[in-house]
Amino acid sequence: MKSFNDFPKVSLGIFPTPIHRLDRISALLNTNIYIKRDDLCGLGLGGNKTRKLEYLLADAMQKKAEIVFTTGGAQSNHAMLTAAAAGKLGLKAILVLKKRGVTECLGNQLLEHLMGTDVRFVDTDSYDDIYDEMDRIGKALGKPYYKIPCGGSNALGAIGYVECVEEIRDSGLSFDHIVCAEGSGGTMAGLALGAKLFLPQTKVHGMMVDTDPFDEITPRLMKESAALLESDVSISSSDFHLRDMCGPGYAIPSEEGNAAVRLLASEEGIFLDPVYTGKAFAGLVAMAKEGAFRPDEKVLFLHSGGAGGLFAVL
Ligand SMILES: *Cc1c(COP(=O)(O)O)cnc(C)c1O
Repeated sequence: MKSFNDFPKVSLGIFPTPIHRLDRISALLNTNIYIKRDDLCGLGLGGNKTRKLEYLLADAMQKKAEIVFTTGGAQSNHAMLTAAAAGKLGLKAILVLKKRGVTECLGNQLLEHLMGTDVRFVDTDSYDDIYDEMDRIGKALGKPYYKIPCGGSNALGAIGYVECVEEIRDSGLSFDHIVCAEGSGGTMAGLALGAKLFLPQTKVHGMMVDTDPFDEITPRLMKESAALLESDVSISSSDFHLRDMCGPGYAIPSEEGNAAVRLLASEEGIFLDPVYTGKAFAGLVAMAKEGAFRPDEKVLFLHSGGAGGLFAVL
């Protein structure tokens, strides 16, 4: 089997990110809740796309790309972080975003404005249209370009979260459960594959914040990343656990999600976001209330970032 160290990588963040216990939330939920602060990883306002981009942009540079395309919704954290990372590496980012949600100069749009990012909107619901548009733009510009899929969620991007599990193992703390938000699938797939390789006693729970078929997407990405690592682990449906926390729709705040944002803000001084981490933490609270975690168990919540959304979506 290969290690993620065998893949080219650029340094974009400050790792390992801290892990600490949430004492007040733990008392409230009668178990042990810890948080991994990937929101504090140092690039932009932080967030999970940083780990994926360390591999994806290294690949882009190795392939001599000068332009990096990516996509997402109008307030995509991933797109904003791709622009931030590209700037830092001297690459030009072009964001081709779906014309849905808040497109005014708020939240991540404001950050992109500050970075001088080339942002274009396409009025479509199909990512295939957007990838075609990237090819049109790239060919017209006549420079070598690299396309990063929505959320950076392909086999290579997910390796960033396989690596994150090794980092969690090396913290010396052991966890019975890891809980994360699942939006395009790469984070959950990387964590679930990483747990299989490095922390086989730990259950990984993906809190779905969109309506895509994650029961198919998660194992497919896990298998593709395992193949990239030349690992022969066999992936089955018992390797990951999913819960629907989407509520009224992707990027539309839910009552439970907003309550979780307020809970962590008031009890711990930590800001979640309305699109991903608030809904995911609401799922953790619901599981605790259903008795899914014993009082002696340790649960690790991945804070995957998203602060920009607080200023545009809530
Ligand atoms: C993209 C994102 C997620 C979801 O990660 P995926 O790998 O796309 O499933 C979670 N939290 C935040 C803040 C994000 O921006």
